[in-house]
Amino acid sequence: MDDKAVLSALATIKDPDLNRDIVSLGFIKDLSLSGSRVSFKLELTTPACPVKDALKTQCEDALKAIGFSQVDVTLSAQTRGQVRPETPSTGLIRNMIAIASGKGGVGKSTTALQVAKSFKRQGARVGLLDADIYGPSQMLMTKAGQPTAGPNSMMVPPLWNGIKVISVGMFQSKANILRGPMTAQIIKQFLTQVDWGELDYLIIDYPPGTGDIQLTVSQLVPLSGAVLVTTPQEVARIDVLKACEMFQTLKVPILGFIENMSYFTCDQCDKKHRFFGEGAAKKLADEFSSTVLAEIPLSNTLAIECDKGVFDNTDTSNNALFDRATSMIASHLSTLHMQKANVLDNFSLEWRA
Ligand code: ADP
Repeated sequence: MDDKAVLSALATIKDPDLNRDIVSLGFIKDLSLSGSRVSFKLELTTPACPVKDALKTQCEDALKAIGFSQVDVTLSAQTRGQVRPETPSTGLIRNMIAIASGKGGVGKSTTALQVAKSFKRQGARVGLLDADIYGPSQMLMTKAGQPTAGPNSMMVPPLWNGIKVISVGMFQSKANILRGPMTAQIIKQFLTQVDWGELDYLIIDYPPGTGDIQLTVSQLVPLSGAVLVTTPQEVARIDVLKACEMFQTLKVPILGFIENMSYFTCDQCDKKHRFFGEGAAKKLADEFSSTVLAEIPLSNTLAIECDKGVFDNTDTSNNALFDRATSMIASHLSTLHMQKANVLDNFSLEWRA
């Protein structure tokens, strides 16, 4: 048995999101054969790949079917994204994701934090940028310390359980009186003068609303996409609708919707009590041809643990909901990057011909 036989067996396996086989996608690395044993690295486009375990099993099955007795597949990931060389610090941030809402109080900061924690749990390199100038809360919810001065006038963000955190609240106490251009300037500094290092995902806790500030920031930050947070109420949905229109106008891809405080399940019964109505995220997703990434319940442990700055949520059912959401976000971003790369590949082929 040789490399060719192995690769042709593996080429029958398709990544369902990217809709191409895993060999032509370049996922097979460090292939090594020894008698009836084969080992290789399966290098995915994100550590949060939703089908990583299924792909691993398919590889093992395909190679056992052609006679290998031992198949060692090591999962790894090289996160795809836009590498931006124009500024020293954004150069190594592969994906910038806005967590946005139409209005305050819907749980946007809570969601941004849980999304960052979920990516971290799944092995990604993560930063959390709290740009919510009206009520920066990530300092409280993460208990991250203060940034320190690094070389070349760069700021080094504090690390909280492996997540690099910068909050507008770390710098001044009058954040709520900032105007659009000033805010934009500060956010720009956060991108260009903070030593983020190499990040797979920078999660941005976005200022809520759709006014001058949000517009200026959206024009300035090279966002890979936006996740919109709503509660089930119609008033929240209508404001999120405006935020979606803003992102659409600016050609920022909408990655999906998270409905927070969606329902409550009491200790005594399994019924989901939907106090605030139903279907806001679904309606938005249909309207923007997008996806409901998660419905997050009202959860007292989530609220209490966020206040206390706890990293490991005791209610793991919430973790599972966020992990599913981040997997969907990650695979959406991988697909977008792959589509862009394909356009460029095709262009250069035609150009050469
Ligand atoms: P926003 O950023 O939209 O203003 P926050 O994330 O700060 O909202 O949340 C507002 C309050 O609601 C916080 O006290 C937070 O702990 C609480 N909260 C958010 N989501 C939930 C939830 N799913 N269950 C219970 N409390 C929540």
